[in-house]
Amino acid sequence: MKRLVIRTPFDGALVDEVPITPLAEVAAIGERAERGAAEMRSLSRFQRAEILRKASAAFQAQREDLARTIALEGGKPIREARAEVDRAAMTLLFSSEEASRLAGEEVPMDAAPTGAGRMAMTIREPLGVVAAITPFNFPLNLSMHKIGPAIAAGNAVLHKPASATPLSALRARAILLDCGLPPEALQVLIGPGGETGDALLSLDAVKMITFTGSAAVGLGLRAKAGLKRVTLELGNNSAVVILRDADLEAAVAACVSGAYAHSGQTCISVQRIFVEEAIEAAFTGHFAAMASSLRQAHPLSEEADLASLIDTREAERVSQWIVEANGEVVLAPQRDGAKLSAAVVRKPAPDSKLMREEAFGPVAAINPIRDLDHAIASVNDSRFGLQCGIFTNDLRAAWRFAREAHCGGVLINDVSNFRVDQMPYGGVKESGTGREGPRYAVEEMTELKLVSWRL
Ligand code: NAP
Repeated sequence: MKRLVIRTPFDGALVDEVPITPLAEVAAIGERAERGAAEMRSLSRFQRAEILRKASAAFQAQREDLARTIALEGGKPIREARAEVDRAAMTLLFSSEEASRLAGEEVPMDAAPTGAGRMAMTIREPLGVVAAITPFNFPLNLSMHKIGPAIAAGNAVLHKPASATPLSALRARAILLDCGLPPEALQVLIGPGGETGDALLSLDAVKMITFTGSAAVGLGLRAKAGLKRVTLELGNNSAVVILRDADLEAAVAACVSGAYAHSGQTCISVQRIFVEEAIEAAFTGHFAAMASSLRQAHPLSEEADLASLIDTREAERVSQWIVEANGEVVLAPQRDGAKLSAAVVRKPAPDSKLMREEAFGPVAAINPIRDLDHAIASVNDSRFGLQCGIFTNDLRAAWRFAREAHCGGVLINDVSNFRVDQMPYGGVKESGTGREGPRYAVEEMTELKLVSWRL
């Protein structure tokens, strides 16, 4: 059987190797998943909630081990990896609560003259088998955002993690099985995205694809999905606005953390910063000073603020985009293999990739803006729309921004990448369709059925 070798991108050190799932086995895996779905459907809400609650506690108990796995396979600094484990445990806990309260509602049939003498209710039924395809950047928590709600809803899951980071997915499955999940209710498929994704799409048993990853892959999946339900959590080139009345120190600190967490490899990473002209020079000076003080080190080092990108090719791409942006490079990056230090570019060309595409690297683009109108137009000048932020104490400006920014989420006095795991999360435009957050994902992963009695 072919094996996939996993190396730490920071230094290429061998972490582990795992068997690749042969494509010839996918049909049989699909049959097992159908049996798993039947088993899940027969579990009570109490049983599903209990499995998820126990798994949440087990994640906390194994926090350090899980964090090391995330850090070594994905190159995420260990302090951020621990935070990811904590969030994944919360995601499972919120999912268990959704399992407990999963319910339909009474339908007021006699509100229509022809409905008199009838009583009706809706019930939420599991879809069956859900295929979950996940990216490398949050290999544990983003997987739990699909697996937790799918279990809560009574589905079985076929999980295809990113090839760079399959170990967190395998660890999570082992923990869930230990906590009572039937083995056929969660199977992990390891293999290259295109082939394994197509094999999953070809299974009749798969009723839904829940995908988190790049827009190009997501759009391709949707085009091939036929009648399968599809939710897509895609990319962004997130914007944050700083108005002149904002608390400058707080805005700088939040923007630095938002731009360089996991070396900018988060889907809502602060990328395009728009600062009102009167305070732009002060903002840029503080921002660059703080960004230059970030420490780059091995992901297991407690000192690491930055470690590396997922591979050398990505680090080269981001470096190239910085050059092509044709702006004022306020903080120039240093590159060594997959390692890239923090960069700051002021006034990049408006049509540069740095302004138009998703950078997914440790670089922020700072742009002066005239006023709120200019800010709103600049934020919306994007084909993406996941989350954005604004720093201001002007209530009217904040509210107008909240109404007019075309994004799935608007954060006032927070950066674009603020997220707690129970909130609805998802995008508009090319950032995707559907919402995650256990309550919302459970809705996407169930079918609404009407039951009516003629009395
Ligand atoms: P990616 O290249 O799109 O890969 C995501 C997943 O899709 C991986 O498991 C990948 O497998 C698989 N895949 C690749 N090609 C496929 C195909 N043709 N059919 C089916 N599956 C396929 O994304 P990534 O580089 O891992 O992650 C970065 C992207 O994810 C960024 O764009 C980021 O914004 C986005 N993201 C979005 C969110 C959100 O919630 N909106 C959160 C995190 C990340 P292989 O690894 O085997 O190629």
